[in-house]
Amino acid sequence: MASRDLYEILGVARRATQEDIKQAYRRLARENHPDVRRDDPHATERFKEINEAYQILSDPAKRSQYDRYGRVVGDAEPFGGGINPFDDLFDFFFGTRTATRADREAPERGADLRHGLEITLEEVASGTEKRLKVTRLETCPACFGTGAERGSGRERCPTCDGTGQMRHVQRTVLGTMTQIGPCPECRGEGTYIPRPCRQCRGAGQVEAEREVTVSVPAGIEDGMHLRLAGEGEAGVRGGGRGDLFVVIHVAPHPVFTRRRRDLFCETEISTTQAALGDEIPFKALDGEVTLTVPPGTQPGTTLTVRGRGLPDLRGARGHLHVTVKVAIPRNLTAEQRALLEEFARLRGEGRGGRRKPIIKKVKDLLQ
Ligand SMILES: [Zn+2]
Ligand SMILES: [Zn+2]
Repeated sequence: MASRDLYEILGVARRATQEDIKQAYRRLARENHPDVRRDDPHATERFKEINEAYQILSDPAKRSQYDRYGRVVGDAEPFGGGINPFDDLFDFFFGTRTATRADREAPERGADLRHGLEITLEEVASGTEKRLKVTRLETCPACFGTGAERGSGRERCPTCDGTGQMRHVQRTVLGTMTQIGPCPECRGEGTYIPRPCRQCRGAGQVEAEREVTVSVPAGIEDGMHLRLAGEGEAGVRGGGRGDLFVVIHVAPHPVFTRRRRDLFCETEISTTQAALGDEIPFKALDGEVTLTVPPGTQPGTTLTVRGRGLPDLRGARGHLHVTVKVAIPRNLTAEQRALLEEFARLRGEGRGGRRKPIIKKVKDLLQ
């Protein structure tokens, strides 16, 4: 590109004020906008030149460099500016989505967040309150979400003259093609922030850790989620906050398993308790209960304690189901053995054909 004098391009004097430069630029950008000069094949080139000149002369640091050295130091191109707006536009044209200006200006609701929370089965029984630390986007406290440094604001984008759109005219073998895309300078918003907020770098939002109190109702089930309306990320341009979804995970319990509002577990009783029946104290999830073992209880029998399961979300309570294992006694004393043999004899369950050899019998007695 020919290194034409930047002041000449904008048609201003070397001593022109920033305001003069801005006004000259606006007028030229409007006049030479490829949108307006659709039939002029050089309009795009000229429009680009005007923009690049303005990028340098509107920036006091770059302008003084240009005044002293005739170029902006550190840039390979005479016009420096960094990003070529048309390279960017090219990306927009072939991108998957072309945002319209209306999209860009509309209030945007903050994103929803998901957060896992593990609770115990005891907490399911009683319900609980938990405090969760959530990292989320909050409205920047320094600029109140505007993204502009205090005392400044948004200004009309000079590149697209506030329209948020740019027309890219391309001459191809098939003729002139015009493509419309969002302005690369203001990303289609039509306005830009000349002095971005230092705290959020112009984003209007900052990440912050917040503590949220979650009320977990009794009876909640593994995998259920609680929706905390408005506890998600902050919205932009006046959009509402997103929601926080707390996904409940119920930790496995060492004793009890659960099916909906019913609890299941096992317990061991002795052969005599099984045979004679008993009332035994039993530690349920929510305190002690008395387990009634009827006489003649068989191994694998399930005893039900009504109303001592879990509540469901509507407050109805399930039952506790205890499956009985019967422990067969080992290492009998001589007296116990004699009694059991007597018992067997009385039941007619004689050990007739299977009497032990005498030597074994003595050994047993010595145990
Ligand atoms: Zn800010
Ligand atoms: Zn723009």
